[in-house]
Amino acid sequence: MRDFDVIIVGGGIAGASLGAEIAGSRRTLIVEAENHCGYHSTGRSAAFYLESYGGPEVARLSTASHDFLASPPAAFAEHGFLRTRGDLHITRDELPDLPPGVECRVVERDELEQLIPGILPEWRRALFEPGCADIDVAALHAAFLRQFRRSGGEVLTDARLQSASLSSGRWTILLNDGSTVAGLVLVNAAGAWADSVALACGVAPLGIAPKRRTMVQLRVGRSGIRELPLVDDAKGTFYFKGEGDRTVWLSPHDEIPTVPCDAAPDEIDVATAIDRFERVVDWPIERVERSWAGLRSFAPDRLPVYGFAADAPAFFWCAGQGGFGIQTSPAAAKMAAALLLGETPDPAVADIDAAIFSPRRFSR
Ligand SMILES: Cc1cc2nc3c(=O)[nH]c(=O)nc-3n(C[C@H](O)[C@H](O)[C@H](O)COP(=O)(O)OP(=O)(O)OC[C@H]3O[C@@H](n4cnc5c(N)ncnc54)[C@H](O)[C@@H]3O)c2cc1C
Repeated sequence: MRDFDVIIVGGGIAGASLGAEIAGSRRTLIVEAENHCGYHSTGRSAAFYLESYGGPEVARLSTASHDFLASPPAAFAEHGFLRTRGDLHITRDELPDLPPGVECRVVERDELEQLIPGILPEWRRALFEPGCADIDVAALHAAFLRQFRRSGGEVLTDARLQSASLSSGRWTILLNDGSTVAGLVLVNAAGAWADSVALACGVAPLGIAPKRRTMVQLRVGRSGIRELPLVDDAKGTFYFKGEGDRTVWLSPHDEIPTVPCDAAPDEIDVATAIDRFERVVDWPIERVERSWAGLRSFAPDRLPVYGFAADAPAFFWCAGQGGFGIQTSPAAAKMAAALLLGETPDPAVADIDAAIFSPRRFSR
């Protein structure tokens, strides 16, 4: 049986980014159930960085991730992962409240018409958040995995944890092909399956709930939309961004409770998205080019969970990344690595209170 210091369950952005931080100092294995890493939530995101998203605590992780995403160390990647486009939080009435410190300014109707040609008259104003950017998620995820492997980490795909038991300070993990691997610490970075993995390891679940979100790619009868800002409803019922010259990525901002699964879009959610879009701009819809869905998984308080379980000290939670797991990944991984290794946190996250994200908050 092969033996490791740390075994990470899940090769999405959460497992890959944490793995990249620790592989240099711990013999680390990622076990991924699918035939490639990134098949589930990580490969299905809307791919934007929006500092205000997820409330003030999440915003601290996003802010602390920004510089790494914009200009990573040369050894990590040749280019940054962000392309700035700005975001308009549009409203028919009240402007939204953004977390403190997030740069923004009010845009009145005249300017809104210039920024979003064809916007319908009922949208009176907006809050503009200039820092919003597209993230090259595939490149970021690949760079984390590259760094992980370069530092000595190993990845096993088609390897689903079936069960695990802790004995004499060592986890023995049974995989779907009947083989076993052993590790001193087990990291639960299983996304929508985080509670199932905990149960399979005899650890109390935390109530991590997967929620389905739908994305639709539309071909529209207007060109020149690729560079326009992301547009979201201040009340949270849709968002869309130009993806190509005449294509839009659109979401109805749905959050449908589900079991962990290979998520697929439901026709009704696609129809809802289109209905809401038609109430925002006069851009004629030519066709739906494709649609997809992914799972955003939330802890009961909607904050992510990083830290050792209260009931199993060698079981480390890295879960509940909701709709912000990509944009927070650099800082969250640095913070989680310091917790896991018992080391002083990287300066980029030194002033973030990691206790806010501890799994122990649910047992207090
Ligand atoms: C439609 C949509 C839009 C989004 N937009 C954004 C955005 O714009 N910006 C942003 O920052 N975030 C966004 N998100 C959120 C982001 O995608 C997630 O927070 C992030 O991908 C979660 O990463 P993860 O590694 O935890 O999960 P995943 O990528 O799902 O990885 C978990 C992995 O664990 C594996 N696994 C599960 N069980 C086992 C097991 N028993 N054994 C082995 N492996 C197992 C799975 O196969 C999976 O590959 C969006 C999400 C969705 C669905």
